Amino acid sequence: MRPRLSLDQYVNGILSGDHLLLSRAITLVESRRADDQRLAQDVLKAILPKTGHSVRIGITGVPGVGKSTFIEAFGTYLTTLGHRLAILTVDPTSQRSGGSLLGDKTRMETLSMNPNAYVRPSPAGNSLGGVTHHTRETMLLCEAAGFDVLLVETVGVGQSETVVYDMVDFFLLLMLAGAGDELQGMKRGIMELADTLVITKADGTNQTAANRARVEYQNALHLFPPTGTGWFPPVLTCSALTNTGITDVWSSIQTHQQLTSQNGYRNRRRQNQQLAWFRSLLRQQLEQRFYAQPYLRSQLEVLEEQVQKGDLLPVTAVQTLLSLAPDSR
Ligand code: GDP
Repeated sequence: MRPRLSLDQYVNGILSGDHLLLSRAITLVESRRADDQRLAQDVLKAILPKTGHSVRIGITGVPGVGKSTFIEAFGTYLTTLGHRLAILTVDPTSQRSGGSLLGDKTRMETLSMNPNAYVRPSPAGNSLGGVTHHTRETMLLCEAAGFDVLLVETVGVGQSETVVYDMVDFFLLLMLAGAGDELQGMKRGIMELADTLVITKADGTNQTAANRARVEYQNALHLFPPTGTGWFPPVLTCSALTNTGITDVWSSIQTHQQLTSQNGYRNRRRQNQQLAWFRSLLRQQLEQRFYAQPYLRSQLEVLEEQVQKGDLLPVTAVQTLLSLAPDSR
């Protein structure tokens, strides 16, 4: 086992932009050990004043839409502009199946080698809530380490897009052209969250279909109610293969950032996100504490069986259980 680092070693290492120490700090926040957690909280407290300055971008899209290829091209472009970017993933499948929609293959090989980029795969966790809590902490560590652009990537599965939406300033949705009845199959809920939609693989024979999809999606977006931010989500096309349209995506993000910083929306969005983070953490911890009470478990089984059989109303079972748990009364 590696020797434990001190608080100062972690903090100084992170603030000096040391990737290795950043990685160890992230591992520390992901650790379940109580002493690691205490140290992690001290590290986070110490670096907090150095956080918050980055552009936080969420990226989502179905497997195969071209996320990792896009991030390679987009990220490399940003580093040529002098930006330093960190790429984090929220993988909703890794904790359930052991397999992973994002992490099985080697992804973003070029960026992984780029000294101005940092790629960190999703932590393993037993709940999406736990994973996202760690991702938020990891975002703070990356900001303190000097990364000025954060990309948080997820696949469009389950609730993962909404949890990523809740931790970023800008939400980018990648979509495929000609993947069947586009407007039928699209997840309307996710489209409503998107700050910009990008049709990927707009190259070769796919170009015409991509342009057509762009118009269709743009028309569809017009039907959504205005967001109240003064921002109208554009639909763009891009090809990571031929490197076209990548700069437009960055321009769109910058314009959005300018607008929302000026009109105060970005600040409000972040404040609401902080509050939501606090509330979800509180909920999680209360739940954990509740179930950790040993004598409840046997009772829980008995009550669940009765509820299952229809002998007991769920509401009565809940009240019985709560009356047995001194902490929750
Ligand atoms: P992910 O699962 O969303 O991360 O998708 P990948 O980035 O792994 O891409 C899926 C497939 O689409 C791969 O075979 C890529 O080579 C291909 N692909 C990605 N971007 C482009 C593009 O801009 N043009 C074309 N023609 N193919 C692409």
